[in-house]
Amino acid sequence: MGRIRENVLSLLSEIPEHVTVVAAAKSRSAEEIREALDAGITAVGQNYLQESRTVIGAIGDRAVWHFIGHIQKNKVKHIIPLFDMIETLDSVGLATMIDQHALKHNKIMPVLIEVNIAHEEQKAGVMPEDVKDLIRELYPLTNIRVQGLMTMGPFLDDPEGLRTYFRQIRTLFEEIRELAIPNVEMTHLSMGMSDSYRIAIEEGATMVRIGTQLFGPRS
Ligand SMILES: *Cc1c(COP(=O)(O)O)cnc(C)c1O
Repeated sequence: MGRIRENVLSLLSEIPEHVTVVAAAKSRSAEEIREALDAGITAVGQNYLQESRTVIGAIGDRAVWHFIGHIQKNKVKHIIPLFDMIETLDSVGLATMIDQHALKHNKIMPVLIEVNIAHEEQKAGVMPEDVKDLIRELYPLTNIRVQGLMTMGPFLDDPEGLRTYFRQIRTLFEEIRELAIPNVEMTHLSMGMSDSYRIAIEEGATMVRIGTQLFGPRS
């Protein structure tokens, strides 16, 4: 049995059914991604447009494709037709561009709001206290659909330290859900990576983005 297949089967056997595994596939070949799909992965995350063109071209709609990287505005028009979800929306300006291009492609683009949960200066994402206002401002944009929140969390030596941040974003997620804003579904909470997904699931993640544990260390 191939190594990736083995890793996928073992991961899926420990993940609760309501949690979606997004295989974080930056720098992985179409062949490696296919092995993961054959073993039961359904969603694949990509960080870079250039790379994703090649693998999405080779694999196509066998996978649900999530954009999980930082988005440069000049790439939006190319990202829209390729992807099924954008997990890294963090400004009204970007949302407006996504909406315009989604309209051109006759698509309603599911998006998650990326939250900078630990207020890290160098990191992308909306500050947690600004998330509700941002979501309210997206109201006129009818070709995007907010479906939840995503966070990277800080890099810590001990991932147990992430628990408090995961708990904070879960609380925010619940608060937004209770606001019942029209056209906003709080369905997906995307948090947790190879070193932290167990903690994230305990704290309410419905989506985990896992690279290393499925594909091995990145070279
Ligand atoms: C690479 C990446 C992951 C997965 O990281 P691993 O530690 O390899 O599991 C998750 N989310 C994003 C946005 C990534 O770029």
